[in-house]
Amino acid sequence: MVVLKGGTVVGSEKSEILDIAVDGEKIVKVGKNLDIADADVVDVTGKLLFPGFIDTHTHFDLDAGAFHTADDFTSGTRAAIVGGTTCILDFATQNRGETLKEALANWHKMADDVSSCDYGFHMAISEWNEEVRKELDYMSENGITSYKLYMAYDNLRVTDAQIYDILKEVKKQGGIVGVHCENGDIVNVRIAENKAAGNGSIKFVPSTRPDIVEAEAIYRYMMIGKMAESPLYIVHLSTKKGYDLIMEARKEGQKVYMETCPQYLLMDESKYDLPGFESAKYVMSPPLRKQEDMDCLWNAISNDDIDFIGTDHCSFHFKGQKDYYGTDEYYKIPNGGPGVEHRGLLLYTFGVAKNRITKEQMCKQLSENAAKMFGLYPRKGIIAEGSDADIVVLDPNQTTLISAKTQEQKVDYTPYEGIEASCKIEKVYLRGREVVNDGKISKEKQGTYISRGRCIESYEQK
Ligand SMILES: [Zn+2]
Repeated sequence: MVVLKGGTVVGSEKSEILDIAVDGEKIVKVGKNLDIADADVVDVTGKLLFPGFIDTHTHFDLDAGAFHTADDFTSGTRAAIVGGTTCILDFATQNRGETLKEALANWHKMADDVSSCDYGFHMAISEWNEEVRKELDYMSENGITSYKLYMAYDNLRVTDAQIYDILKEVKKQGGIVGVHCENGDIVNVRIAENKAAGNGSIKFVPSTRPDIVEAEAIYRYMMIGKMAESPLYIVHLSTKKGYDLIMEARKEGQKVYMETCPQYLLMDESKYDLPGFESAKYVMSPPLRKQEDMDCLWNAISNDDIDFIGTDHCSFHFKGQKDYYGTDEYYKIPNGGPGVEHRGLLLYTFGVAKNRITKEQMCKQLSENAAKMFGLYPRKGIIAEGSDADIVVLDPNQTTLISAKTQEQKVDYTPYEGIEASCKIEKVYLRGREVVNDGKISKEKQGTYISRGRCIESYEQK
């Protein structure tokens, strides 16, 4: 038995100085001044204790066109855990011609036995037919209760009719569908226009995918969802225009949930004007936006309109991958960036420490809401008796310098290079085991697959 003594336990409603007793993998008691004979006492006075963070959006070990991501499950989950993320939801992806069962087996093969944090999978469907429809029962039985669809990317996207059909089918399973909302046809034609005009440099990235490309797709998805009478979630929301449309739909009673990511809160499109090839680091979809979009998303978090913050971690090396085709053909640059390691540090530094959000809101955004939404609650997402002992010990009186030199992410840069975070993630417990100590991994590969239950049910009870 281990007792964490004297720390401030952060919950979504309030925070209190409480002791936490851990036995095996579980929290067995939370209370004031626990006195348990023979327990090992860990003094965490002055520290904030969060329920382990959950990253709702990662892509590890992924083939993306000509390139393979820099991080696999070994390095990606090491980076996650050192940053306080005790559970990730990665996107298992059905390539066309594969069954969902095959896709799931592929992802287990990559993640099992090597992961340093717990993990579950969303299933990305790229080919929908009667055989695939029949596989949803198998998915539910094996803990997959959330799905992803793409409205862009020719090798992944599905049609509006398929979105409608999949929404209805997934709803029967008690699952939920997240969609990458960008109008793929318009993205393609804008790239073709830029190509024809010789506008291949990276500064033309925003013109390819302006905010209305996202907003139009969000609106379309919501209207399809309305007809399918299904709840929805929007992955990586990046624009004020999209946010306004979602809020409008919510006012009319539609159930639409939103995820955003740190990159859309912390960086704007001026990164695409950086000199030389530096700007390639920020090529991602959706692209970075304008200041007014960032302000809008911060407000949305402080109003509790955003439901959770994932990272869309999809890392490619700067040297050899991002720069492979040079600077004149931005549309060939692999899309995505790293982030799984630094989400907690960044949200604390730019959210809590700057008084944009409270630590209780940080708890909701990084942990509790995602657990409730994706069928993990109350096993995860809360520090309470009976829950998994996934605990982040955060010291608000120390700092952490973010740098590619010291990161666990196995990629040769971080977009957050040089940021001095105003806290340190000192210890992390994963199902009762101390796996991070003094900011470093003390035990690796302790992660396990988390079979998830029906989505949303516990979220809607609030
Ligand atoms: Zn993604």
